[in-house]
Amino acid sequence: MSDSIFTKIINREIPANIEYEDDQLIVIHDINPQAPTHLLIVPKKVIPTINHADASDRELLGEMILRAQAVAAKLGFAEDGYRLVFNCNLHGGQEVYHIHLHLLGERQMKWPPG
Ligand code: 5GP
Repeated sequence: MSDSIFTKIINREIPANIEYEDDQLIVIHDINPQAPTHLLIVPKKVIPTINHADASDRELLGEMILRAQAVAAKLGFAEDGYRLVFNCNLHGGQEVYHIHLHLLGERQMKWPPG
């Protein structure tokens, strides 16, 4: 299977606005933001969908959430609030088959989602 767009970003084959990176994950600004701040927390390990995650990914998934929390705090919108989203497969509206956690901040979100 060909590399996902996120693997290409991780490998520096295509550019991205990188907010944070460590050995496990990268945080980039979404190219088509749905909020004033829209970040994607992307693991370097390729897991196509949340359906493919298993118990061995427990720590990595926790790291993703804690990194989202830390980035929201660093960028100054943690107290106002934000939304974290995993889209999964067709009904979830997933477009890129390499899991990523959306972090949307700095606007009032609505519920239920469309
Ligand atoms: P999904 O619908 O799979 O949950 O979300 C994929 C997200 O990746 C979308 O919000 C889309 O705008 C973003 N995206 C797609 N291609 C690129 C890209 O080349 N660079 C960046 N930074 N974001 C991308």
